[in-house]
This record gives sequence, structure tokens and C-alpha cells, in this order.
Amino acid sequence: MSKVLIIGAGGVGRVVVYKCAQHPEVFSEIMLASRTKSKCDEIVADVKRDTGHQNMQTAGVDAENVPELVALIKSFGPELVLHVALPYQDLTIMDACLETGVHYLDTANYEPKDEAKFEYSWQWAYQDRFKEKGILGVLGCGFDPGVTSIFTAYAAKHHFDEIHYLDIIDCNAGDHGKAFATNFNPEINIREVTQKGRYYENGKWVETEPHEISKMINYPGIGPKNSYVIYHEELESLVKNFPTLKRARFWMTFGEEYLTHLRVIQNIGMARIDAVKYKGVDVIPLEFLKAVLPDPGELGENYTGQTSIGCRIRGIKDGKVKDYYIWNNCSHEAAYKETGAQGVSYTTGVPAMIGAMMIMTGKWNGKGVFNVEEFNPDPFLDQLNKDGLPWHEQVGGDLEFDY
Ligand code: NDP
Repeated sequence: MSKVLIIGAGGVGRVVVYKCAQHPEVFSEIMLASRTKSKCDEIVADVKRDTGHQNMQTAGVDAENVPELVALIKSFGPELVLHVALPYQDLTIMDACLETGVHYLDTANYEPKDEAKFEYSWQWAYQDRFKEKGILGVLGCGFDPGVTSIFTAYAAKHHFDEIHYLDIIDCNAGDHGKAFATNFNPEINIREVTQKGRYYENGKWVETEPHEISKMINYPGIGPKNSYVIYHEELESLVKNFPTLKRARFWMTFGEEYLTHLRVIQNIGMARIDAVKYKGVDVIPLEFLKAVLPDPGELGENYTGQTSIGCRIRGIKDGKVKDYYIWNNCSHEAAYKETGAQGVSYTTGVPAMIGAMMIMTGKWNGKGVFNVEEFNPDPFLDQLNKDGLPWHEQVGGDLEFDY
């Protein structure tokens, strides 16, 4: 019997529950817990109907309350807590895992609520305590971070003696028919894309204004899309774990319409994360904005088009320069048909389930806190092919970047 406790009943949580339920041989008992229990009940009812897995329970929990989490973990007795609520809860959930001796996995690094700051320092600080307790913490096991980091590890293992240049390219060419919506939690998404850009070059971090660097990139099956250098958290662990990297950047596509809305949101102060008094009540503008924007979990129904995310890498093999590209394309419609969620939730939830599967079947093991590129990429990428996110690779060809 192996039990998993999934925390967070948003778009990603929905996909994780579907995918875990498709593997009853690994996840024989599933509990979905979140702030609003009714959302868990709705998801679990859908999953029971569609997959036939009946050994599922739900619970309400405040994941910022360690004693509440500890009580829930003790009563259910999981081997692993799979955290797909919000990054604000990473540390409290890690604390509860430490107290109960249960493995931990997440898809996004901890962020303090009062500052949009993306770094692993807070979670890496758990290394010794996780080691002493004999438990495993796996950080950033979604698509990016997650699969992009594992693609990099796979390239380094099978294609290169040294990797020198890494460009992670992330395109969402989907159309949800709304004037403005974010593909995952709006608060977290807007905090991420409005921050300054940052990339790594020759041992240093180079900071840019938001969206200062852009270029057209051709995405397979999609075509050319304007793409912007933004900071993304996996860069921090990748340059540490692959010290031969001379440059590492992250590119994301944004449409003109999206950027215009974002500019207006910032200019009128709605992206602020400090409290303002409104009719005597403290209101955080970005939190309020989240409440009026479309729920990303509800975007799936009319979403068409696909995402394309991958890594373009230049390095050295047998003394010669080698170029390599590895990627996945995911259809929003296919994701919705299978799970009732759109492609961005799907590309995050599938890898999170596979990471959990790797831990529960002992294919990834260790004691302490690890980023996903530190494990063997092969069994993970085999499973990714089988679980709805097949990947492709190309050796040589034009990578479209300056070296
Ligand atoms: P949603 O906002 O749709 O869902 C978040 C869920 O967490 C909601 O059900 C919410 O509850 C619940 N939650 C919030 N606060 C608490 C709390 N204190 N206690 C318990 N539950 C809580 O987000 P998504 O599903 O879109 O994203 C989930 C996670 O995945 C995020 O951390 C996001 O950053 C990450 N992500 C990672 C990606 C990757 O590729 N690595 C890509 C996309 C997302 P309620 O329903 O009550 O609001």
C-alpha cells in the first residue's frame, strides 16, 4: 500500500489527482486536501468517475498552519506529500514533513508574500534537517522548473562532455478567448512576469529591465513567436549543478495584448503587493485583482492551440561543438479532454505525478533536499513519454541564438 497526500485543489491539483489515479499500482490510496474542501470533493468525484480509482479521500486544511498539517499527515499516514498549493506554503509544508518524517515534493520555490523574490535559499536551508530525519525533499518538479531541468540533465548525460550555453524556451501559443487571463495562479504569475529580467553569463548574473531583451524564436509546430528573457527559478540550481555553463537564459512568449494589459495593471497600481486601506480595510491590490480575473482552472473548455517548451543547448562532445534541442508540445484541447484542465496545468501536474512515482518506486532516492536535475533523468523521461507528454530531440540544426 502506498499513500500520497496531495495539497492544493487548483488546476494543477486536478491534473495531479487524475494522473495519480491512473496509476493505482503506485498510488493505492490518495488524499486531496486544500483550503476549500468542496473543491477537493468536486475533483475527486470527477476522477473517481473517469478512472475508476475509488480509494480516495478529501480534507480541508490550512497549509500555512503546521499543527493542522501535522495532524492531517498523522491521521492519513502518507509516504509523500505532493504540494501543489501555492509557493507561500512551501516552508510550512516542509516543516510538517520534517515533524512527521514524510517525503516532500513541490513545483515552485518558496516566495515570501510581501516580496516577489524567487530563490532557493530558504528551501536549501532544510538540507541538513531533511538528511538527519532521513527524508527526501524534491524541489521544482513541474514543467519549468521540472522537465526543463531534467531535459538539461538528460542532454548533459547522453549528448555532451560539457554543456556551455543553455536557452530554455517556453511558448504558449494557446488561445483561451479571454482578453486577459493568466494560465496559472494570477497572483504568482503576475509577480513572476513583472519582475526584472535576469540571466547568467560568465559566472555572473546580468539584470535587465522587465522584458528588455526579446527576439523571434521558431517553435516546432507553431512558428515564429516573439520571446522575452525573464528570470526563472530553475536557472539558479542549473548553473550550480552544471558549472560548465557559460550562459543560461530563460525565454517566454507573450502576446502584445497580454503585455499591454500587464503594463496597464502595473501603471494603475493593481500589481502592488503591499496593503492599501480601502473603506477602513487593508486590501492588497494584486490579491483583489486575482479575485476578479478568470480562474485559470476554468480556462480549459474553449482553449485551443498548444504549448511548446524545451531546451536549446550548445556544448562540446569529443572535442567538437555540438548543438542539441529537446522539447515537448502539449495540446490544450487534449489536456482538457483527459482531465478537465488546460495545458499549463497539465504540463505541471503530469511531471509532479511522475516525480512522486519516482520517489515511491525508489527510482529517485536520497536523504536531504534536491533539485530534479540531480537525479537520473532516464526513468523520468521514459515515463513522461507514456503519461501524455511525449518529447522530441534534434541534434544539429539552427538553434537561432548567438554564441
Ligand atoms: P491555483 O491558484 O489554481 O490553485 C492553488 C490551490 O491552492 C487552490 O486550490 C487554493 O485553495 C490552494 N491554497 C491556497 N492557499 C492555501 C492554503 N493556505 N492552504 C491550503 N490550500 C491553499 O494554482 P495552480 O493550480 O495554477 O498552481 C499550483 C502551483 O503550481 C503553484 O505553486 C504554481 O506556482 C505552480 N506551478 C508550477 C509550474 C511549473 O511548471 N513548475 C507551472 C504552473 C504552476 P482555494 O481553492 O481555497 O483558493
